[in-house]
Amino acid sequence: MSIERTRNFSIIAHIDHGKTTLSDRLLEFTKTISQREQQAQLLDAMDLERERGITIKAHPVCMFYKAKDGLEYKLNLLDTPGHVDFSYEVSRSLAACEGALLLIDASQGVEAQTVANLNLAMQQDLHVIPVINKVDLPSADIDKCKRQLEDILQLPSDEAVPASAKMGIGIEDILEAIVAYMPPPKDPADGYVRASVFDSIFDPYRGVVSYVRVVSGTIVRGQKVRMMSTGLDYEIKDVGIFRPKMTACEKLEPGDVGYLIANVKSTADVKIGDTITESRRPSPEPLPGFKEIHPLVFSGIYPVSTDDFEALKLAVGKLQINDAAFTFMAESSAALGFGFRCGFLGLLHMEIVQERLRREFNMDVISTYPSVIYEVRKTDGTEMLVDNPTFLPSANEIDEIREPMVRVNIMIPNDYIGDMMQLVMDKRGQVNNTETLDDRRVLLHTVIPLNEILVDFNDKLKSITRGYGSMDYEHAGTQAAELVKMDILIAGDPVDAFSCIVHRSKAESRGRQLCQKLKEVIPQQLFVVAIQAAIGGKVIARESISALRKDVTAKCYGGDISRKRKLLEKQKEGKKKMKAIGKVNIPQEAFIEVLKTN
Ligand code: GDP
Repeated sequence: MSIERTRNFSIIAHIDHGKTTLSDRLLEFTKTISQREQQAQLLDAMDLERERGITIKAHPVCMFYKAKDGLEYKLNLLDTPGHVDFSYEVSRSLAACEGALLLIDASQGVEAQTVANLNLAMQQDLHVIPVINKVDLPSADIDKCKRQLEDILQLPSDEAVPASAKMGIGIEDILEAIVAYMPPPKDPADGYVRASVFDSIFDPYRGVVSYVRVVSGTIVRGQKVRMMSTGLDYEIKDVGIFRPKMTACEKLEPGDVGYLIANVKSTADVKIGDTITESRRPSPEPLPGFKEIHPLVFSGIYPVSTDDFEALKLAVGKLQINDAAFTFMAESSAALGFGFRCGFLGLLHMEIVQERLRREFNMDVISTYPSVIYEVRKTDGTEMLVDNPTFLPSANEIDEIREPMVRVNIMIPNDYIGDMMQLVMDKRGQVNNTETLDDRRVLLHTVIPLNEILVDFNDKLKSITRGYGSMDYEHAGTQAAELVKMDILIAGDPVDAFSCIVHRSKAESRGRQLCQKLKEVIPQQLFVVAIQAAIGGKVIARESISALRKDVTAKCYGGDISRKRKLLEKQKEGKKKMKAIGKVNIPQEAFIEVLKTN
């Protein structure tokens, strides 16, 4: 099919605005899938993704649509991950498109995520067609949405298509708008082969599958190709398109979106954003926009039972094959034994990996308090990066510590401005600008240390705004701060698993909180046990556990029942685990309790 009749597009939307439902409708309308097949919403295949309403892996799909002009068009829908942790993946997927549908829930209007994703689309120069979804709802307010499109997003509202993905209203109008307004791909036709990789997956039967958009030239089976970032050559074993299942085809041509399978071992060898060219006649320049991605959030992951270390090693290795952004390195902790220091793109990514370890690999793991990467300048003039508090040099060797910052855009109803500003302040953030969106809502432009939004920021935002607030963040460089390493000592011995890097102003309250928590979970011993929080040897908080008396039968730990029951069962199996920290025995569940709730 000629390139003039190809359209590559994405759907950008805030979570729950109906992206999955609309995608399914488009597939159904173009008979790419039958209604029967559709029962399970196809594009969000992974359980975890479905549950959380997020897409992690971009699944493209190719549809053929006979338009009202009588011609048949090839429409490639590239799904994009809907979360900021994956914004690089989003931008690579968008770079493979010429247009995007901007989906807005007619009863909710524009949300923070919508603004962020639209910005990414604009940076790629995409033609954006607004779709106002859920017009079937009694609370739908199409006029208000149109005003917001003009005022907040500066998009012409007359192109907006009203639709209901659920009821199947406006689906044909959307397809016609795609054909009419979105431009076809351009082919530089200069004789070079160039395809950009926007994702890769590991298929247990076929190995690494790279998702590509061909920009120029043709890709066929048997061809020798080169990954331009590494200079490594591979032979193409298979090429094909997504209908929506992988379907082999003869070749991929300019403008096409499809997959290729080469003799690549691990997804880590396929870099997202990389350019594939022909080995015989390589393109002089790669396609623009390639960036190595580096993890930003780190945490130690340890097996609850030390016997499970080998199983955990196998599991993290398998996860990485499928998720090149996830990194791990063996590390050991005096308190937790052998485990891995793992790197993630962000918090959600971290939660997903931990959850997958539990569900898919049946691993019971403990993860340490998440940390960001700090840039440390030492007094001897050298610089180092620290992602694990254990490795922070002692205070007298440190000249300056810089921490990563994020620009956070927070959209909230007017009524909650005061409380929200307070939260930002509590998190050492700064509100730079307040923008009025309409008569009900404002957008706060803030800058906050990444470390401060790691744990509970989003939950707090939701509870302050009763669920009506939304946020989005992007990275904003580093900034020097008064950060210190806080150690926790039990009966005088430091416990590495509880060490953390905190801002000086927060050290005391956090130290006190940790000590109290530990006091609750550590059983009494035959002697008095001191629990202390200290900065460079100076104690800033302390608690003590009185000595055991004869009549004490059991100690009750807080925490959720199922976890407790599971632990009890484990104990029954005769696997009672205690870690000896100096002369104090600490049950494994004490670590879990403390690390879980922090
Ligand atoms: P996503 O998170 O953007 O992928 O959103 P989903 O497609 O999963 O939809 C979120 C919720 O909105 C689901 O409960 C859908 O049934 C519902 N929904 C989607 N489109 C419409 C629509 O046009 N009208 C109504 N009333 N509900 C819709």
